[in-house]
Amino acid sequence: MAEVDHRCLACGQVHPDAREVTLIDGTVVSSYSEAWRMECEARAVLAIPSVQKRREYLFGSIDRFGKPSGGVEQRRGRESALQLAEVVKRLWYAAKQSDAA
Ligand SMILES: [Zn+2]
Repeated sequence: MAEVDHRCLACGQVHPDAREVTLIDGTVVSSYSEAWRMECEARAVLAIPSVQKRREYLFGSIDRFGKPSGGVEQRRGRESALQLAEVVKRLWYAAKQSDAA
């Protein structure tokens, strides 16, 4: 089993409370990894109770100048928003499958 890299994505240090966590696809990573941070954010997006609001969180809402603003896309870029949307989709399918089982 591969050793988990516990370095913090923000500062590069290993924090004493770092622990191993399992992603939805079964990969074991550090609780300080970008993959885990993103999956936590995706869970929060999924918990937003409207499709419209989930879209706005990711891609922004139209402001009074007719421009999208305030979303992940505007703050962190298109690539980040699409990556996060992909993880949200994956979590959604996984939840659906466990409902059906
Ligand atoms: Zn840190």
